[in-house]
Amino acid sequence: MYLPPNDPLVTELVRLAAEIPVVDTHQHLNAEEPMELDLCRMMLSDYVNTDLTDAGMTPELREWLLDGSVPFGERWAKLGPLWEQVRHSSYAEVHLRTLRAHYGATDLGPGEVEEVSARLTADFAAPGLFRRVFHERCGIEVVLTQGNCRQERDPRFAWVARPMDGFNLAPDGSFATAARGMGVELASADDLVPAMDAILHGHHAQGAVGFKMAALPWRDATKEEIAAAWEAARAPAAANDPYLRCPESWPVLNSLYVSRIATLAAELDIPVAVHTGAPWTNWLDFSAWEPTALIPLLQRFRETRFDLYHAGLPYGTPLSMLGKAFPNVWLDLTWAHIISRELARRSIAEWLDLVPTNKVLGFGGDNQNPSVVLTYGHLEIARENLAQVLAGRIKYSGMTMTQAEAILRAWLSENPRRLYRA
Ligand SMILES: [Zn+2]
Repeated sequence: MYLPPNDPLVTELVRLAAEIPVVDTHQHLNAEEPMELDLCRMMLSDYVNTDLTDAGMTPELREWLLDGSVPFGERWAKLGPLWEQVRHSSYAEVHLRTLRAHYGATDLGPGEVEEVSARLTADFAAPGLFRRVFHERCGIEVVLTQGNCRQERDPRFAWVARPMDGFNLAPDGSFATAARGMGVELASADDLVPAMDAILHGHHAQGAVGFKMAALPWRDATKEEIAAAWEAARAPAAANDPYLRCPESWPVLNSLYVSRIATLAAELDIPVAVHTGAPWTNWLDFSAWEPTALIPLLQRFRETRFDLYHAGLPYGTPLSMLGKAFPNVWLDLTWAHIISRELARRSIAEWLDLVPTNKVLGFGGDNQNPSVVLTYGHLEIARENLAQVLAGRIKYSGMTMTQAEAILRAWLSENPRRLYRA
């Protein structure tokens, strides 16, 4: 049960939440540099691109809308009707809230859209955008990012490494190159674990506060299976595209790397962040990231702290139960608030029923550089989702305002700091 946004209990909780120095648990930001961007291009760089594609935007039209040499008005004449079809989605609400708060929009009608876009262009072109977005507009103190971004103040950035991205066993592929850089030559299957460990230690030495992976089925592989998988992955037929041509070997090799990630994360006292559930663009088979696939991994690596992203949406309830069954699991609302406000609020209510309040992380922006300003609208929605559910608890279940405020403080600030030692 949750209360409407205009209920006085909700507005008071939103006010209290806005005073909390937030830890943003998940962004994809690279180093800040001034960008040439307009409203069309920002929308097509953001999750709302998925909705616009569903509404009928073809790849050819998308290409044309991204062409900055075509006047903005001409492009918006084509994009506007598609926007009307998606404007009630949670992704679209992020845009509306951000554009209203900082770029003078009211309803994004034809009379104002060009001016709004021009203000956005000016904001992206002016230096200091990250400080304006995170520090001045959002009250975010620490940002955990998976991109190459190491600014040090206002906000403070911390890096979560993505070792699996470079896992390609072609002889001169990114994995072999990274291993060589750490002094390990890949000559046989016996070199895999030393290479993986060296790369992971290298990430940690460069400042990684966590390792990131995706929820995939995991199992302990035998030495023979690993040797066979290595041979298959190194065969000439696999050289150009090892990920696709060895469907039998990659689950074994991925499982091996995940085992090393989980083992070293525990030794290094850093968490493993895991993508669960939702697709970030069209046509992806999101059933691949169904969260209960993680159960064997969670059972095997009990000393490793796992940060499960995105509330598992749309597999919200199974993910909620992972937080109850496994003491090594933390539940993270990053991105969930805007995948669907409704599903996120359901998860919040389930977590209050199911898991201790010290095991939840309340917000992560999950933007890239061209959509970074949207962190503002996203955080506003996050505060409101949390406040609506907590206000319901106050009204109907005897929670006090002080207790609700303590939960907001834990979820938005204290728990992520503790989990990431950040
Ligand atoms: Zn992400």
